[in-house]
Amino acid sequence: MTGTEEFKVIICGAGPAGSTASMFLSKAGIDHLLIDKSVFPRDKICGDALSGKVLPILKKIDPQITKELEADQQNFIGSYGIRFAAPNGKFIDIPFNSKLDFKDPAPGYISKRINFDNYLYTKTKSSYCESRQGHALTGIERFGDKLKLTIKSDNSTYQITTSCLIAADGDRSIASKTLAGYKMSPAHYCAGIRAYYEGVTDMHPNNFIELHFLDEMLPGYLWIFPLPNGQANVGAGMLSKRISKQKVNLKRRFLEAIENNPTINYRFKNAKLVDDIRGWGLPLGSRRLKISGNNYILTGDAASMIDPFTGEGISNAMYCGMVAAECVAESIEKNDFSEMALANYDKRVYNRLGDELKLSKTMQDLSSFPWLFNFVVSKARTNETLKNTISCMFDDLELRSRLRDPAFYFKLLFNL
Ligand SMILES: Cc1cc2nc3c(=O)[nH]c(=O)nc-3n(C[C@H](O)[C@H](O)[C@H](O)COP(=O)(O)OP(=O)(O)OC[C@H]3O[C@@H](n4cnc5c(N)ncnc54)[C@H](O)[C@@H]3O)c2cc1C
Repeated sequence: MTGTEEFKVIICGAGPAGSTASMFLSKAGIDHLLIDKSVFPRDKICGDALSGKVLPILKKIDPQITKELEADQQNFIGSYGIRFAAPNGKFIDIPFNSKLDFKDPAPGYISKRINFDNYLYTKTKSSYCESRQGHALTGIERFGDKLKLTIKSDNSTYQITTSCLIAADGDRSIASKTLAGYKMSPAHYCAGIRAYYEGVTDMHPNNFIELHFLDEMLPGYLWIFPLPNGQANVGAGMLSKRISKQKVNLKRRFLEAIENNPTINYRFKNAKLVDDIRGWGLPLGSRRLKISGNNYILTGDAASMIDPFTGEGISNAMYCGMVAAECVAESIEKNDFSEMALANYDKRVYNRLGDELKLSKTMQDLSSFPWLFNFVVSKARTNETLKNTISCMFDDLELRSRLRDPAFYFKLLFNL
């Protein structure tokens, strides 16, 4: 490889955002280079939960994919909903889809990222995609009306030019820092840790994922997600601003909760850790950023697209990847990769995800008040209408926006 190489489109990072962008570019018949610093299969620290928003994107790539997930019970376990546990330990079970029968195919899945990401990566294989694993982007410079990227692999360092970089290089994105000038902001960032356990008891019979809003984790939560082969992904996330203000050691707090918090500790009596406890950051979508510019588009974690309440980022990353491919196709048509031409990407991503992210920020703020959480969950346990309303909120944004209205809580308080 020499310094004269050029690709019109380069995707940096082959996680959910980058692999999805690659698959949609190939579908549109657009040649591109896909690089990743890791060699697949590779681990990614995560809760491993694929929400109901992942499947519709996969179906657009290939309707067969969902059947493949259903059939692969070694690596994918179907999930039908979420259990929200309030700080006092009381919980409500909310199905992902209020109209769904548990015998229907699952709307969500849980799969270790080492398997899910490898599955996605293998799907990028196409005559339009040149793929290089073990190649890390280490620098970006402007080069006339293009970008010059420096790439490092085991045996060489080389440079390559491009008209358009789709940055899908995750939380520590070089493109996000170098091209957009973004820095980590503790008010919009969460620290997370993940552990794999065997032998956790009392898992939900329909594989609901569980979010435990323990007093000691607010604003944030401890999660318990079922995995294939009787394992569980257990972890915790907490807002970085709170962690530094209260000088929290998240790993210690997590282990203490498992040992001592009476709402969960009995379930870990005979549980065994099967891997090291590992940590990674979550760049939250609680502030609106500009996510494209001259010759580049930021996607997924590189664009800070994680839901600030649930911590869900895979589906948003895949959505960004899909829209990035569509916008790049339009830019190729016009031969225009300017900031103005690519600004359409920002519009489309925020039109679809903007309201949802704003509402989740409100819910994140509300979750700092344990008494309010306890109150809403206790009410929902005895009030079928309220439970159904919360359940429908997953599908219906307009309903979810009620959570921002103080009248919602007033009516709840007085049973109106
Ligand atoms: C503790 C924790 C729990 C989470 N739980 C969930 C959950 O249960 N469900 C959910 O939906 N989301 C969850 N998330 C969020 C989710 O993991 C991310 O939002 C998602 O992985 C974003 O996908 P991505 O493709 O943008 O980035 P990534 O998945 O991080 O992929 C980035 C890729 O870029 C590559 N790369 C990085 N730097 C370079 C470079 N310099 N050169 C070349 N390649 C590079 C990496 O090797 C990697 O393959 C969690 C996150 C954390 C930290």
